[in-house]
Amino acid sequence: MSDAATAETAVHPPSPGFLAGVAGRLSAESRVVEGEPLARKTTLGVGGRARFYAEPATREDLCLLLRQAEKCGIRVYLLGRGSNVIVPDEGVDGLVLRLQHAGWRGIEAGEDGRIWAGAGVRLRKLCGEACRQGLGGLEFLEGIPGTVGGALRMNAGAMGGWFFDLVEEVHLMTLGGEEKKCPKETLRYDYRICHDLMDTIAMGVYVRAPSRETASAIKRRLAAYQEKRAESQPRESSAGCIFKNPEGGHAGKIIDELGLKGKRVGAAEVSAVHGNFLINRGGARAADVIELVRALQEEIRRRRGIELHPEVLLFGRDWRDVL
Ligand SMILES: Cc1cc2nc3c(=O)[nH]c(=O)nc-3n(C[C@H](O)[C@H](O)[C@H](O)COP(=O)(O)OP(=O)(O)OC[C@H]3O[C@@H](n4cnc5c(N)ncnc54)[C@H](O)[C@@H]3O)c2cc1C
Repeated sequence: MSDAATAETAVHPPSPGFLAGVAGRLSAESRVVEGEPLARKTTLGVGGRARFYAEPATREDLCLLLRQAEKCGIRVYLLGRGSNVIVPDEGVDGLVLRLQHAGWRGIEAGEDGRIWAGAGVRLRKLCGEACRQGLGGLEFLEGIPGTVGGALRMNAGAMGGWFFDLVEEVHLMTLGGEEKKCPKETLRYDYRICHDLMDTIAMGVYVRAPSRETASAIKRRLAAYQEKRAESQPRESSAGCIFKNPEGGHAGKIIDELGLKGKRVGAAEVSAVHGNFLINRGGARAADVIELVRALQEEIRRRRGIELHPEVLLFGRDWRDVL
């Protein structure tokens, strides 16, 4: 196992041509670098560097980066707010793209109850805008600390609502740089997954608010949800629920019943507040978190005969390789 310092400085094999191929062709506002640290770009705060990292400012720049990556045989990964990912200590051997520039953070509410939100818009912001417009039914998104792009890929949900309940049309770019407008009916989605976004990039979405309400009624519901979260979720760094809930059960409840709250590997710990949250006590390595996931999974399988599957993604890798 490598220590955090080694992970931070991990060097990926050189790829001549990628940076040279985009140099001077991207707009001045786009950013592309080699060896960018990723830990601080995630809520859990662990992991190494991206071999290449870019924040394109425009669709044209996104397309150029994708085509150059394809040409150089470099894999592409999308990072939103990083609130549902664990970056491995060895980093990510590919091009990590983040739709972080203001151009991806536009919100526009129409008269008809439809709202356009760019992939880089934070869910909290989307919720706030809907509330200002008197558009109800988006409140469940408020406490989910991700972006629209991440919420689409994950079909994020809370308090009985799912992101795809709201979706009307998603605007995508394929890894080959082709733009597509996909009505909801054409997309395949399920519990915490949109299959069609596994290998494509969501650029933005039209959502439709389920109801028109007064801002004060919406605010009341928001306050109730906030209170519920504050009582039931830890404040420490985490990546949200680590396991998907098994059919008919709750992963957090099982962990609690088995007395596994507080279990620790290095600085990674099962939260005492919510058993399905693994928290970073400060200075945790991805290897600690992965080992804790493995240990929990194994103990729950042994004592309850239940197979839990991670909801949090291992960024750039497959859980099957490490569990
Ligand atoms: C305290 C806390 C509470 C949470 N509560 C909830 C909850 O109640 N419900 C819930 O569902 N989740 C919850 N989460 C998890 C997380 O916030 C959601 O999954 C969120 O939707 C992830 O968005 P993100 O922008 O952070 O995505 P990331 O974590 O950055 O990425 C997640 C996945 O989305 C992909 N992705 C990101 N942007 C794009 C894009 N533009 N196009 C295509 N793919 C993209 C990434 O490649 C990755 O596969 C919580 C997390 C924390 C830390």
